[in-house]
Amino acid sequence: MTNQTLLLVLMSSKQVCWEKFARYFEVELKDVRLKKDYYVMDPYEAVEMVDENTICVCAILGSTYNGEFEDVKLLNDLLLKKNKKTGWDTQIHVDAASGGFIAPFLFPELEWDFRLPLVKSINVSGHKYGLVYPGIGWVIWRTKQDLPEELIFHVNYLGADQPTFTLNFSKGASQVIAQYYQLIRLGYEGYKSIMENCQANAKFLTEGIKKTGRFDILSKDIGVPLVAFSLKDRSQHSEYEIADNLRRFGWIVPAYTMAPNAEDVSLLRVVIREDFSRTLADRLVEDIKNVLKYLDARPPHIIEAVTEALVEKDPSLKSPEESKLDVIKAKAASAVSALLEPHSEKSLRAWKSFALPKTNGTC
Ligand SMILES: *Cc1c(COP(=O)(O)O)cnc(C)c1O
Repeated sequence: MTNQTLLLVLMSSKQVCWEKFARYFEVELKDVRLKKDYYVMDPYEAVEMVDENTICVCAILGSTYNGEFEDVKLLNDLLLKKNKKTGWDTQIHVDAASGGFIAPFLFPELEWDFRLPLVKSINVSGHKYGLVYPGIGWVIWRTKQDLPEELIFHVNYLGADQPTFTLNFSKGASQVIAQYYQLIRLGYEGYKSIMENCQANAKFLTEGIKKTGRFDILSKDIGVPLVAFSLKDRSQHSEYEIADNLRRFGWIVPAYTMAPNAEDVSLLRVVIREDFSRTLADRLVEDIKNVLKYLDARPPHIIEAVTEALVEKDPSLKSPEESKLDVIKAKAASAVSALLEPHSEKSLRAWKSFALPKTNGTC
């Protein structure tokens, strides 16, 4: 290996933690760009980008954007071939933050883990589908030898030898205990039935959203139980307007754009967790329909006029980025909505009557 910057290859739609890692540890990230209608890393392209300074290729099991799983098996096979040809020893890390607690229960046949010889380490977030409150995450190495001894610190001032390998400092142990409790309490069967339930509710919501006829579904059947969807026709309304108006019904549904090369796609995302029931899914579909009906009935020229007025008042809002204008437009649209029909009180009351009787359960 030469004395150059170390590289890590991964897809451009990565979670922000990778950018932090790269900056703190002075590792350079090489992005595999997304393509139109293909929102995960292309294993062929990733392996192509591997060079002698590449420390590993990071596969993501469960894209933050649309929940899709990358093809880790294909990546493994292609990389094996490349390693054999070049004599290098590039390995794979799997960022299974969401997928790590899903794939083993819903898709046990899917090979993405230590069954593949090049997978050296896997991270998973306990506070996502591990079903623990924030924030706890895990990393597992293939063998003990893969975690260098010099990264482990031994302290004895607590009365016994305590090996510690963490990047943060003193921290409560409550999440570790909570995770331990969940693992013992639920076991494999318990996690499986919860994940199946999430999957069924995600399907139910997907169908409901599809049936409106207004959206394309960007999430996949094999992936994280979430529904990512975008408008088929963005000429009248944007996803930002839908998100903004859903708030009036008590829903916070994020709207955002895809990573570079697919950033003209904006989408909405609903992540289905354990406590997202079918009744809630039903209600969300109804509220999306209400929002659409409501948006359709609004005179678009008033929104245009308010948008223009907003931009005129503050020229810094005028940005070459399309998405920024969308955000302003959504704000303008909300202002117009509030003027035309002050029914937010009504929906708030409806929401409260639905949510208040619930006395147990977590979020
Ligand atoms: C959430 C997420 C992370 C970050 O994990 P935290 O445990 O929340 O810090 C990393 N990668 C992906 C793909 C994620 O979805």
